[in-house]
Amino acid sequence: MNRCIRAARAVTMKDGEGILENFAMIHDGSTILETGCWTDLKKDFSGEVDDLGEVTVVPGLVNAHVHLGLSHLRGKTVQGQGFTSWVKSLIANPMYIPEMDAVRKAVAGMLESGTVFCADIATANVINIATVMDELGMGFCACCEAMGLQVPEEGAKLFPQKKFINGKVVGSGHALYSTSAELLRAVKKADDEAGLPFPMHLAENAEEDEIVAAGTGVFAEMLRGAGMLADCGNSGITPVEYADSLGLLDGSTLVVHCVRVTDSDIAILEERNVNVCLCPRSNEYIGEGRAPWEKILKSGINTCLGTDSIASNYDLNMWNELEYLLENLEISLSAREALSLVTLNGARALKTDNSYGSLEKGKRAVFATVPSRLEGLLFA
Ligand SMILES: [Zn+2]
Repeated sequence: MNRCIRAARAVTMKDGEGILENFAMIHDGSTILETGCWTDLKKDFSGEVDDLGEVTVVPGLVNAHVHLGLSHLRGKTVQGQGFTSWVKSLIANPMYIPEMDAVRKAVAGMLESGTVFCADIATANVINIATVMDELGMGFCACCEAMGLQVPEEGAKLFPQKKFINGKVVGSGHALYSTSAELLRAVKKADDEAGLPFPMHLAENAEEDEIVAAGTGVFAEMLRGAGMLADCGNSGITPVEYADSLGLLDGSTLVVHCVRVTDSDIAILEERNVNVCLCPRSNEYIGEGRAPWEKILKSGINTCLGTDSIASNYDLNMWNELEYLLENLEISLSAREALSLVTLNGARALKTDNSYGSLEKGKRAVFATVPSRLEGLLFA
């Protein structure tokens, strides 16, 4: 039996559509059949109506960067002391023991706050975490993160080849300093061949700048001691320039953070049609500074938001991420531009916009409602 969602208004993110008043969306429980004005749609509709009242409906939110495997580490890391101190405090904890109860709770909390799709990054337990997301109905890219110096032996897969109902397994790269150029290229190639997005952390902090430019620094020595320092040092160039020289940057790549990007780095990202995921609260939590949000947004780069893990944030709530960005942003965005950061742009970057990212016929019938505290920020 078809049902209908009704609300005072909606921002559907459909091409060319603004704010719709007296919104209605007819669905069959999983797929959207029709959207429009209730006055028009009610003429031919006889099913049950779920009236949400005086709220704004938007597409279900996309969290483009999270590490659910770290869900047991809330409050267990240092804040505001920079990346090296944060990593030291992170690895002092048991990181790779799966705490699936914590993962389950985290996914349930994300769903409750309106997130319907996420890109989860995991260096271990990828399949276990994907299984939890699948069971709870979270759409996902379960990103199997390559880290280290060697490409797996010939014949070994770069990421697990398992099928799920609500998501897919994707290969991702950790970072230029921790993952060999050869391995990053191999994972990128495997993703390209499978039509998958390729996420990687890029230009996150000063430590990364120094390692790529000169191969030096406290963090470089820490990585060297652990046998983890990649072959990227002493190129004298920026992380974005180095990633570009490796052929890693194109329209299928999602680079995460971009705190330390120059104007010419932004021009490279734009020219290569790269997708950017900003994690504003994580960068603030760790004490890495802030990305040049305004320049990135003005450049026209497809930009989305992610919370990063609970080990470097206060919660995994995408509304809170957007609120933080809007409150600190020095340019103003239209409601549609702001909402695209947590809906359509993330879906595009993760190659899932055929099912998520906007409310239109044929896509998943999943939506969120704008919390009242954000109404003023979005629609003022
Ligand atoms: Zn991350």
